[in-house]
Amino acid sequence: MRELGVRLKLNVIPEVVAGQRVIMIDDSIVRGTTSKQIVQMVRKAGAREIHFMVASPPTQYPCYYGIDTSRREELIASSMNISEISDFIGADSLHYISKEGMFAALKTEGEEFCAACFCGDYPAGR
Ligand code: SF4
Repeated sequence: MRELGVRLKLNVIPEVVAGQRVIMIDDSIVRGTTSKQIVQMVRKAGAREIHFMVASPPTQYPCYYGIDTSRREELIASSMNISEISDFIGADSLHYISKEGMFAALKTEGEEFCAACFCGDYPAGR
């Protein structure tokens, strides 16, 4: 159902991507299955290269504070390194922003935010 949902929600315009080097940007990679599917869709539409950029660090730990994330063993970054994840999703390269880079982009000076799903440090315990 999840895979069907992706195909219903996202479509590739082959005339736009055929023969191109494509950069795809997503907010996160959780299980990796959706990313794999959309990379396949873009590849099938004729993209020459696909480089995947993620606007958060690797999601390695579950959230206990109300966000419905997978169990740890289902989180792809809990058992694979970045190169392995890149191979799994079928991208030519994969890049994540660092935790420091993400906070710098958010201009969080003087503020504290939870980042437990990236680093495993739960500020309010589990
Ligand atoms: S940053 Fe904290 S609250 Fe937000 S999803 Fe990750 S673990 Fe949950």
